[in-house]
Amino acid sequence: MKKVIVCGGGNGAHVFAVLAKAYLGSNGLVGIYAPYKDEAKLIKEAMEENGGIEVVFSGSIIKEKVDIISQSPSICQGADLIVFIAPAYSHEIMLKAIAPYLKEKVLIGALPARSGFEFSFPSILKDNYAENIILFAAQTLPWACRLESPGKKVKVVGTKDKIGVAAIPPEKAKETAEILSKLTFARFYPVENVLAVSLSNIGQIVHPGIMYGLFKNYEGLPYPESLLFYQGVNEEIGSILEKMSQEIQSIKYAIEKAFPGLSLEEVKDLKKWLFDTYGSSIKDTSSLVSAFITNKAYDGLKAPMIKKADGYYPDFSSRYLTEDVPTGLVVTKAIAQICGVATPMIDQVLNTTSKWINKEYLIDGQLRGGNLAETRVPFNYGITNLNSMVAAVKGQLWKEEVTGELRIQN
Ligand code: NAD
Repeated sequence: MKKVIVCGGGNGAHVFAVLAKAYLGSNGLVGIYAPYKDEAKLIKEAMEENGGIEVVFSGSIIKEKVDIISQSPSICQGADLIVFIAPAYSHEIMLKAIAPYLKEKVLIGALPARSGFEFSFPSILKDNYAENIILFAAQTLPWACRLESPGKKVKVVGTKDKIGVAAIPPEKAKETAEILSKLTFARFYPVENVLAVSLSNIGQIVHPGIMYGLFKNYEGLPYPESLLFYQGVNEEIGSILEKMSQEIQSIKYAIEKAFPGLSLEEVKDLKKWLFDTYGSSIKDTSSLVSAFITNKAYDGLKAPMIKKADGYYPDFSSRYLTEDVPTGLVVTKAIAQICGVATPMIDQVLNTTSKWINKEYLIDGQLRGGNLAETRVPFNYGITNLNSMVAAVKGQLWKEEVTGELRIQN
């Protein structure tokens, strides 16, 4: 990889760009494409003033100067690797802008992809005549991180043990995992296909599900203090989450039954995911609720709420809704609709959370609402049945098979 571009100018984008530069050194060029507001200028000026961007880990600091920072999509010209690290609702805006500048065999993906990446990215690239591109979708960011000062300092407060990544075409996942692992010093492992990443997006259950559970009876009055989020899960919320998870498992089984060769093993039930992800951080593993409230990693984390003079109000503009509904749960509902799987609990959560974000997705239990064009449902890209959905995941809908090796310097 001689030229690596990060799309996005936020928390994770800073960390990735610095670590990639630390890895590549003078053997490669790392850039940040930040079209949002005047972010590119701010980051660039701050980085120059500071002599580089610092990534602060618990026991170390890595400081690097990124080679180029620009709000122009032409920065992507000639890139070998392009990584989107930004909220999923911004992916299509940036992808459409950079599409004319892509070369063949470039590796493009998102960290994390969230849901519907597998329909949106191939379709936009096809519409823009960008050919022979290898796509990847990662399950999450390797780090929990917060910018302390854009262009100067970002703090890594936690690191994931391992991160799944799938590719289109699927057989490129292993090489992609190796490249990302080198550039980020994290451990990526290959996942069978991009649909598995889409459906295993655990944020789509946990974020809208807990928000729904906490605030479904909210009548506009302030709370005296901010509510706990994960550790606010009680029996009732636990049961909501469990049902949402079971509905996604039913979608998984329906697809695996229709396409026995297409594994969705990565799509784990919520309890299993919690145990696999947090292991010894969970003190009491006897139930889903106890797994949430005794998980050390969730200690004290608060629900998104806005503090006003008279108390705390739920923040319905939170990314837990604005990202995890349109590029999460709505996509999963669409996949369920294609598979003919009923999702009464997910519908209930969608009906309420979509009102909170002033969007209309479901009408009488079917995705027919006026705001679907802003989501990544497969229908938006002409994918309306299981066959075309699986073809999209395999990369067969949008281009000829990609051949050749991916290579990385060093
Ligand atoms: P962030 O909150 O820092 O992202 C905001 C940035 O996204 C903006 O600064 C801008 O650069 C870009 N952006 C937003 N709207 C845009 C638009 N319309 N056009 C172009 N660019 C736009 O993001 P982050 O915290 O780095 O998170 C990136 C992704 O990783 C998200 O999906 C997030 O949910 C996920 N994630 C983050 C963390 C974390 O600790 N930061 C942890 C796990 C997952």
